[in-house]
Amino acid sequence: MKAAYIQEYKQPLVIAEIAAPVPEADEVLLRVAACGVCHSDLHLANADWPHLLKIMQPNLILGHEVVGTVIAKGIDVNGLNIGDRVGVAWIHWACGACELCLEGLDNLCPQQLITGLSVHGGYAELMRAKATYAVRVPDVLTDAEAAPLFCAGVTVHRALKLAQIPTGRRVVVSGIGGLGHLAVQLLVNHYGAEVIAVDIDDNKLALARELGATHTFNAATENAVRAIRKLGGAHFAVVTATAKAAYDEAIAYLRPSGTIVVVGLPAEPLSFTGSALSSREARIVASSVGTLEDMRETLELAAAGKMRCRVETRPLKQANEALKDLKRGAVTGRLVLTCEP
Ligand code: NAD
Ligand code: ZN
Ligand code: ZN
Repeated sequence: MKAAYIQEYKQPLVIAEIAAPVPEADEVLLRVAACGVCHSDLHLANADWPHLLKIMQPNLILGHEVVGTVIAKGIDVNGLNIGDRVGVAWIHWACGACELCLEGLDNLCPQQLITGLSVHGGYAELMRAKATYAVRVPDVLTDAEAAPLFCAGVTVHRALKLAQIPTGRRVVVSGIGGLGHLAVQLLVNHYGAEVIAVDIDDNKLALARELGATHTFNAATENAVRAIRKLGGAHFAVVTATAKAAYDEAIAYLRPSGTIVVVGLPAEPLSFTGSALSSREARIVASSVGTLEDMRETLELAAAGKMRCRVETRPLKQANEALKDLKRGAVTGRLVLTCEP
């Protein structure tokens, strides 16, 4: 099969024919139809997150927003059939038996396997998946628009859920990329929020306005902090941007008693002084992708029309060009790699 994998960090992926994977007893084999290109893939290829390097597969095939069709299954698989269309998320598998799994926090299971990190992902024609974590995709969603829901979609759904946002609040979404443009839609359509969008690129801000943001600010060319303060400050700052600067601004425009929602993961440590937090009685909520239950809810929200991913497709063989475009900020919505059937 054809696959795109990391041979060396900070270098282009190698795109080559490699041996086809064979599913184990509890696994299905998917013919990959679509795989989203998440900014986390760039962080991984760039070795931005040192704590994860030790669990990374050698010659790792990236990709954790995968939709495909079941073409084979192991002997223990009962719940899925050949021909089923399913998706696979970042959480590839969790043990189901530890304290965290039993509390419904399978996204935090210490034994979890991670798609496109500790097991090979979907930048490939074929992929193995655990049957218990392969989730059926509603018919109303195309392969390409469903794929990004398996990371971008579920991540923002969980983050907003954890933040507990009452109706009618002023919510800043900082970073209108793959994650952020879905967050804007959920906030407008599901939370009834007044959305203020911040980015450093006017095309992203135009998309945010189209999706229902009331105000937009370009942090590269105007003083977003002053402008948001003038509006009364943010009850919630949902930071999906990839730069630490976005967090530095968020604490400055947060309304007293406001909440910063940590979603974007810059390589550098975040820094807030104690007094900046204390003087505002700021809350910080951090969120990590989503549980299996969050995944099912995300697909329901999308099927009900609460969010729809803007996608542009590229063939798998253009994986490096896709990553390059994402890195230079030239992607509006989500790029999705597709395999010819
Ligand atoms: P993306 O590249 O599609 O979007 C990032 C956006 O941030 C872009 O629109 C970019 O223009 C904007 N941006 C950059 N600097 C900015 C700044 N200073 N102020 C405002 N906006 C700025 O990326 P994505 O795929 O949406 O991922 C976003 C981040 O979320 C990444 O760091 C990714 O690793 C992280 N992520 C976290 C989780 C989680 O579980 N917490 C899950 C998935 C992704
Ligand atoms: Zn992701
Ligand atoms: Zn567990």
